[in-house]
Amino acid sequence: MKILIAEDNKISRKMLEKVFEGHEYEVFSACDGDEAWKILGEPEHPRLLILDWMMPGITGVEIVQRLRERPDGHTYYIMILTSLDTPADISFALDGGADEFVSKPYHADALRARANVGRRIVNLHTTLSEKMRMLEEAHAIISHQAATDELTGLYNRRFFNENLCKHLGAAIRHSFHISVIMIDIDKFKSINDTYGHSAGDRILKICADTMRSQARTEDIVARWGGEEFIILLPYTNLEGAAVVAERIRIALASDCLVGSSIPVTASFGLAELKEGEDTEALLRRADRALYRAKDEGRNRVIPG
Ligand code: GH3
Ligand code: MG
Ligand code: MG
Ligand code: MG
Repeated sequence: MKILIAEDNKISRKMLEKVFEGHEYEVFSACDGDEAWKILGEPEHPRLLILDWMMPGITGVEIVQRLRERPDGHTYYIMILTSLDTPADISFALDGGADEFVSKPYHADALRARANVGRRIVNLHTTLSEKMRMLEEAHAIISHQAATDELTGLYNRRFFNENLCKHLGAAIRHSFHISVIMIDIDKFKSINDTYGHSAGDRILKICADTMRSQARTEDIVARWGGEEFIILLPYTNLEGAAVVAERIRIALASDCLVGSSIPVTASFGLAELKEGEDTEALLRRADRALYRAKDEGRNRVIPG
């Protein structure tokens, strides 16, 4: 382990170096506080420190205080080595953030044993931080998976429903418009039958990408299930939702649906939240509008 020794007295410094060299320590030496602080600013600097208190420039205790205020996220084990030894000195150094107080003269083996304690603590903290980082990463992946649909990468129905409730509450409280668009791919069964199920999967993904790219960033585009999709449009009235739906309809129906030569159309049912309506009533109206779009010939947008 890397250890920093900061001691202004040359002979004392050499003696300290000898205590640690050859004992699984890589020794970094500083002849005063300023040099020590410089070393502590370098990448991969030592986390285990033995600092003389009295040094020209920054004192050992000042280095402790600065390090404790520095938000670098590292764990340090800091030993103050000094000829001062009154209870007040000890309290001052330890309350200032030092982990260990060693009075001069010291015994070499005892000092190394104390440093070994510091080494164990630094190693333990490093392992814990790494585990914590991995846990946070895993949590982010799991949260993402819990909210998204694997095939299309869109939000899933669970995420949509959770957010619908939240947005509805906010829309009612602050009286802003909110709309939903329900989308169902037309005759998708025959696409599967004609081109195969995996081509069907590819088409679903392309349709999802098209919907996502045609919606605004604040809109929540989700896979409702199978070949059905749903979009939540906060701050949007029925006319606004119709504009978005029509844009998506044209993009899906265009001959140049990016990445596919298979013709696709979809039907759209819209609904804007009415006063006194709950999420179920809102979705029911959108669903009914979607059925009408199918009845009236598909590939069209029908407001509910
Ligand atoms: P309509 O215009 O009336 O909506 O006709 P449709 O054929 O799209 O409707 P239907 O509900 O009869 O069929 C839906 C099809 O979507 C059947 C089902 O196999 C297919 N489907 C659902 N989920 C997936 C999927 O994840 N991948 C693929 N490839 N097909 C799917
Ligand atoms: Mg000194
Ligand atoms: Mg369907
Ligand atoms: Mg369909």
